[in-house]
Amino acid sequence: MHSRRGDEPRVMPSEPALRVIMRRLRDIMGEPADGQERLDRIVRQIAGVMVADVCSIYLRRQDGSLELFASEGLNATAVHATMLKKGEGLVGRCAELGVPINEPDAAKHPAFSYRPETGEEVYHSFLAVPIQRSGQVLGVLVVQNRTVKEYSDEDVEVMQATAMVVAEHLVSGAVSGVGSTIELSRALSRVVTGEPISDGIALGHVMLHEPRIVVTKLMADDPAAELRRLDDAMLELKTSLDDILSHELLSGAGDHRDVLEAYRMFAHDRGWERRLREAVQSGLTADAAVERVKNGTRARMLKQPDPFWRERQRDLDDLSDRLLRILAGVPMGPLASQEMPADTILVARAMGPAELIDYDRSKLRGLVIEHGSGQSHVAIVAKALGIPAVGQAEGIVERVTAGDAIIVDGVIGEVHVRPSTEVVSAYTDKVRFRARRQKHYQALRDLPAVTRDGEQVALQINAGLLADMAHVRESGSDGIGLFRTELMFMLSHSLPRVERQTQAYEAVLKEADGKTVVFRSLDIGGDKVLPYLPHVPEENPAIGWRAVRMSLDRPALFRMQIRALLRAAAGRELRVMIPMVSVATEMDEIKVLIDKERDLAARRGWAAPSSLLIGAMIEVPSVLFELDELLPRVDFVSVGSNDLTQFLFAADRSNSRVVNRFDVLSVASLRALKQLACACRRHQTPLTLCGEMAGRPIEAMALIGLGFRTLSMAPASIGPVKAMIRSLEADAITKLLDELLVGRSGNLRSDIEDFAARNGIEI
Ligand code: PEP
Ligand code: MG
Repeated sequence: MHSRRGDEPRVMPSEPALRVIMRRLRDIMGEPADGQERLDRIVRQIAGVMVADVCSIYLRRQDGSLELFASEGLNATAVHATMLKKGEGLVGRCAELGVPINEPDAAKHPAFSYRPETGEEVYHSFLAVPIQRSGQVLGVLVVQNRTVKEYSDEDVEVMQATAMVVAEHLVSGAVSGVGSTIELSRALSRVVTGEPISDGIALGHVMLHEPRIVVTKLMADDPAAELRRLDDAMLELKTSLDDILSHELLSGAGDHRDVLEAYRMFAHDRGWERRLREAVQSGLTADAAVERVKNGTRARMLKQPDPFWRERQRDLDDLSDRLLRILAGVPMGPLASQEMPADTILVARAMGPAELIDYDRSKLRGLVIEHGSGQSHVAIVAKALGIPAVGQAEGIVERVTAGDAIIVDGVIGEVHVRPSTEVVSAYTDKVRFRARRQKHYQALRDLPAVTRDGEQVALQINAGLLADMAHVRESGSDGIGLFRTELMFMLSHSLPRVERQTQAYEAVLKEADGKTVVFRSLDIGGDKVLPYLPHVPEENPAIGWRAVRMSLDRPALFRMQIRALLRAAAGRELRVMIPMVSVATEMDEIKVLIDKERDLAARRGWAAPSSLLIGAMIEVPSVLFELDELLPRVDFVSVGSNDLTQFLFAADRSNSRVVNRFDVLSVASLRALKQLACACRRHQTPLTLCGEMAGRPIEAMALIGLGFRTLSMAPASIGPVKAMIRSLEADAITKLLDELLVGRSGNLRSDIEDFAARNGIEI
């Protein structure tokens, strides 16, 4: 920077600017002063060391506006008088985007907001960095100079590190008085909007699925010792990544391996290591250095339009978090072994279904995931366990700290981080209201699911764990329309042998107490991977080698499962359903395998099931064009609407960018389902639908209009769907759909919702 302020002590060029700033900040904090005085001294010192004509601190108010709180260089009368609306000007932009803004000639920038009271017209170059803590922007730190010039990368990094220290002082109360003026704790509260993926509301405290360390000690007492800590931690990080990569289970290629290779690439990156060492040499602790370099790199990567860099940034975030955990001595091992708060709300970037089940259910109240849609398997497990969950909560991991108060609203898809007391009490009321509604549903439990014009609808539940069986009774359901057998396989650390499987299926049938149970044969592949089986990498796993395709190509696993099912159902009815059938003749091949197992059982003298019903899932659109060939070959069919919808619209069910683009209540999907219902009537083949749409009252209503009379859903949906059915005239919704499906295109949701509102249907 060009000009130098004459009254500041000179900084020796050899002494890193950051180190000097840190030392002076520490001195300021040690001196007796009130909050405002301290901020005034801080800006004066930063201006001096950075050789800036102006240094200002803007702090964020609860409504998102920014108030000029302290300034060296701008008119003193502007302090506490200049307010910028949320997002206004370059300062507002910096706060909103959470990234540095470096402008050689700020006044020429279209977003520049000129404030005459500040006297800033004489300054051209402008550098603003967000003052952040745990991803929350508390304010903005700005330097300005008279000359037109771009600040160097080093300037930006020094400012970021300084902002980090300022943030720490702000929230720790060291700048007392300031916190209460702008209500810092309230400024920290925030709402993150995502997608509701499992119904319900939960209040609790954050636990990070991948725990992140909050760095509290910033300044090193002994820089040489910090350097040693850093070197040791780096070595441990590299070794642990090498170990993971050489592990036999991960030795095949695949997504997980690509991710780890990228980690390893970063971990061995000389540039990263050099920057970390430099940060420590400037006076930071090893932990603070990791945090600072992470923030600095993030700012640069976020500027890149190429999504590749955003992905790399995620890698670097994860890697930095790992390094912080090593420095803090937090074990990397099984996450479930951490201390869980009694009212845990789990926050994760991404999560597989088996990982969720690893947590102690009695303490788990809710779940928030950055990625992951309503149809992802972790969402399905959350629903099965009755855990309220929100997905696609962009940036949530960076915005929370373990132990934060948090509310998960799985009804509308909102997450309230560090909520105010007003929000907490509003939600407590909501929870009470929902409990009253739940009572209403419970009162319906023993009443039949019959429409006002006498149409009976069978309501079944989807399950996958023995723990789900209690829901059969509690919900008043007619049985289990979909038992996802793969969950047991996914939870097991080794392949469950016939004996173990037999016991598990026996227990399920016993618990069902004579009610229907439909076992789905192993549906693995896609996002359901068994850790102990070789994983074959695929470009498009959802349409790859999965489900029935695997069963036919490698029959041993399928036959083992059938053997266990036949034995478990001895003397009882056994229903088996085959997922992902694409061609009618696949059912012939499946039956040959089943017959082999029946013959084997007969030869061994094992008691057989009293009856065996074999069904196909309708999930792949091709079978819709072979119904006259498929239906005579099966005893029943069940629509897997999650997969059917994704394949019908060619929209990946787990890709948040496309998952909501097409509505299942559109002409195309409703016509497909209607055609199926008509064919089933013609062939007298029992028909069920067991995808997520069955559990949403408005969609269940449409299904009844299409002719469906058996629906299988998450247990918590039984009450709301039954209430809808009991307030519905089946004939009226049938007529409405007949009309809507002629000559229309696209989404029919609002017409169907209007019908429900006009007819007073409980939705
Ligand atoms: C479906 O695809 O709708 C279904 C029920 O199966 P899953 O969600 O397990 O793929
Ligand atoms: Mg499916």
